[in-house]
Parts: sequence; structure tokens; C-alpha cells
Amino acid sequence: MTKNQNQSQKNNISIWWIKNDLRLNFNESLNAAKINPELIMPVYIYNENDLNNHDYVNSRAYSFLHHGLKEIEKQIELQGGRLLQLKSNNPTKSFKELSDKYQIKKIYVTGEFTNEFKEQLNELNTTFDVKVHYDNLVNPKTHLNQTGNPYKVFTQFANQWKNKNTIYNLSAINKFDFTKLDERNDDIPIPQYTLNQLGEFLPGEENASKIFANFIDNKIHSYKDNRDYLYIDGTSKLSPYIKFGMISIKQIYNTCLNLPSSKGVEKWVDELLWREFYLYINNYFPQSINTEFQEKYSNFQWKQDLSLFNQWKYGETGFPVVDACMKQLINTGWMHNRGRMIVASFLTKDLLIDWRMGEKWFMQNLIDGDRPSNVGGWQWTAGCGVDAAPYFRIFNPILQSKKFDPKAIFIKKWIPELQNVEIKFAHEPWLSNESIYRPKIVDHYEARKKTLELFKSYNE
Ligand SMILES: Cc1cc2nc3c(=O)[nH]c(=O)nc-3n(C[C@H](O)[C@H](O)[C@H](O)COP(=O)(O)OP(=O)(O)OC[C@H]3O[C@@H](n4cnc5c(N)ncnc54)[C@H](O)[C@@H]3O)c2cc1C
Repeated sequence: MTKNQNQSQKNNISIWWIKNDLRLNFNESLNAAKINPELIMPVYIYNENDLNNHDYVNSRAYSFLHHGLKEIEKQIELQGGRLLQLKSNNPTKSFKELSDKYQIKKIYVTGEFTNEFKEQLNELNTTFDVKVHYDNLVNPKTHLNQTGNPYKVFTQFANQWKNKNTIYNLSAINKFDFTKLDERNDDIPIPQYTLNQLGEFLPGEENASKIFANFIDNKIHSYKDNRDYLYIDGTSKLSPYIKFGMISIKQIYNTCLNLPSSKGVEKWVDELLWREFYLYINNYFPQSINTEFQEKYSNFQWKQDLSLFNQWKYGETGFPVVDACMKQLINTGWMHNRGRMIVASFLTKDLLIDWRMGEKWFMQNLIDGDRPSNVGGWQWTAGCGVDAAPYFRIFNPILQSKKFDPKAIFIKKWIPELQNVEIKFAHEPWLSNESIYRPKIVDHYEARKKTLELFKSYNE
């Protein structure tokens, strides 16, 4: 770019602050920026805290994000622009530095219902004209019950929303006038995983669209029947793409509305709404990200037994179904929803270990790790969350194993030492006369009894 061209790009710029909306298609923030005559400067700001503190982030998710940004960078370059990548704990400061050099008219961003974003926005608003669009099906501000309060029961939340028959007007614009400025990117850590090492989760909106199309063509109508079986590839596996906004949730929903109706479609939309519900809860009850939603359990005597916790973490509990799920997590960064419930119940109800420890381990390993959904899932299973499973619902790992992996296909895939044993021993290796697997770390029936007594004492 010549000096003059660079100079002419310095005026009348709008920033597209990319957050979890890594896509050019069906992106309301980007489309709104396009309506203005300014050039659009695409900026991604890595959260410096997350780069330095790995408590709630992991290298697989980071690699997915990093390569996802490379994909979007390619698309931006194909349209003659350049993506600017910065790292900072303070977006306002970063944008102020840019505004010393460029005339920034507006900042367009896809907002989030988190305290962190609300604080960032308040600060940003003091200096800039910020236009926020939300990539959510449900708007927490307007979706309230008859008394004007937030819903706390999922079915009410979902049914009332469905009654509104919302259809989203989305524009299919995907060509933009991006800036191509001589700005240096900050030094960003190189991801640990190459694209090939990310396995089936290849980032980018093109991949997201392909996965969604395949799900719609081949799986959605049988979703209700297949979704719970550990050995069937019956769910969408879109979670990391939805998390990073590589596909628009509103576009997904609009597409579902146009499908022939079926129990499968209905059930899948309900699952999308569970995600919305947890985002909504996080908006109104942000403290529940770290504390039990149900106050009666706020002093619950969870254990912190590190030895048992480590055995759970690495799939060494002696319960094949639990161990197989944990191995799936460590090896792929993803776990089946049924598996997540089984292992979360095992940790919190059989071992009575603090759900926060499990939640953190999930965040350190899941490629789709997303705290509102993760905390929601953990508290639901532990029985202390909003609209949670009742405390006396304790998953029996043996029955779950037999029901959702009847031929032990999933177990045998992840636990090679059980590959050649009879199916009944794959579910319950302790029934064999020989020592074919590691011993159980707990007796489920005894643990269940103790747990019920303890929970009961908080309900008297
Ligand atoms: C203990 C526990 C922890 C969890 N942690 C996470 C997490 O960190 N991130 C995450 O995205 N999901 C989490 N879930 C929800 C669910 O397990 C995953 O969303 C799902 O397994 C992802 O696979 P999929 O894309 O094939 O889902 P599908 O069955 O195809 O569902 C479609 C989409 O709906 C959403 N969804 C589905 N089920 C749920 C649910 N129960 N709660 C919230 N959203 C849902 C996801 O965005 C998912 O991609 C957790 C569930 C439990 C029980």
C-alpha cells in the first residue's frame, strides 16, 4: 500500500471488534458496520489474562480459536483487507491507542451477557460510539415472566419464548470494505495443536456450515432417538463452532424453522434453548458462576480429595463407562452430553467432590468449554443449580453403561484392555473371576446411600 492510500484509509473508520463472532456471513455487527459509509477495520483482541492464566482455558480451545482467526484472516485478505490482532486486558486502552492514529467513528461488536463484557462496554462507551448486536435467540432484557422477573424454570423460559414465534431477519451480505493498514499485530503465542492435530474439529465458518448441512441432511430427524447413545454419532458436534460464533445461532434457528417438523428438530431446538437459558441465567445471576444457585447448598460439605479427583480426571475410576468418557475428553477435547452427565454425577454424587473442581477440569479440556453452559451442566447434575435435577437423582454408572452403550462399543473404543472381554464384563469387570481391569475406587450403592443422607440434611 502506498503512503497516500494508507493516509486516505486513516479517516472515517469503523472498527469491527471481533469477539465470539468469527464469521463474515450472517453477522449482524458486521452488516451494521457495512451500512455506514466508513471502511471497516477488523480487530481481534486476545484476552491477556487468558493467555497467562490457564485455569479456565486450554490449549485445544486456544488452538481452535487461533486457527479459526487464521481462516477469517484469509477471508478478509481475499476481500483486500487485513485483520489486526492485538493482546490486552483493556480493550478501551487498545482502541484509544488506535484512535490516536485513525479517525474512529464507531465500534461494532457482538455483545455478550457477561459481567466482563458489561464492564468493558461501560468503559468503552465513555470514549466511543459503540453499536452492540447480540447473537442470541433470547433477549434477556425483554424475556421476563408475568411479574417482570427472570424465568428460573427452563420449560417456562422455553415455552414462553416459543410462543412468540420469532423469526430473525438476517441479511446475507458477505462482502465488505475492509481497511488494509500498516499496523503491526501483537506477538501472539503459537498454538500447541496444528490444524491436523485438532482432529475432526477443523475451525472456520466453512467447516461449521458443512457440519451443520450434514447434520440437517442426515441426523436431525433421528436426533431424539439417537442423541443419548454414547456409541452413535447422533448429535451435531457444533458446540465449539457455536461457542466461537463460526456459525450464527439465529441462522441455525431460521433454518430449523424451514425444515419439515419432526420430534428430532423439536428436541434439537430445545437443546439450543438450554444454552440460551444458561446464558440468560448468567446474565441475571452472575454470582452463580462460582456458587451454588440454590442457596441452601452454599455451605454444602463437598470433598476436595485430590487422590480420588485425579483418578476421575484421568479415567482411572474402575468404572469403564466413566473412564471411557474421561478418556474421550482428554484425547479429543469433546465429550458426549450423556457422558458429561454420567461423569459429573459420578464426581459429585459418588465421590462427593466439589462440582467446581470438575467444572474447572472440563474448562481445561473441552474444546467447546463455555462457562455458562458448563456451570449450568455441572450444577444441574450436582442438584444445586437453577432448575436442576432433584438431589435424589443419582446416575447409576452401571445402568447408564448398559442402557446407552449396550454392546460396549464406546467402552471398548476407549479402553483397549477391555476390547476382547465379554460385553457383560466390559460393563462390570469386577464380575469376572480374572483381574481384567483396575479395581473400583468406590462402591456405587454405598456411596449413593451416604450422598442421599447428606443431601437430605440440607433439605429438612
Ligand atoms: C456437566 C456438563 C458440562 C457441559 N459443558 C458444556 C460446555 O462447556 N460447553 C457447551 O457448549 N456445552 C456444555 N454442555 C452441554 C452439552 O453437553 C454440549 O453442548 C453438547 O454435548 C455438545 O455437543 P453437540 O454440539 O453435538 O450438541 P447437540 O446435541 O447437537 O446440541 C446442539 C447445541 O445445543 C447446545 N446444547 C446442547 N445441549 C446443551 C446443554 N445441556 N446445555 C447447554 N447447551 C446445550 C450446544 O451449543 C450444542 O452444540 C455440558 C453439559 C454437561 C452435563
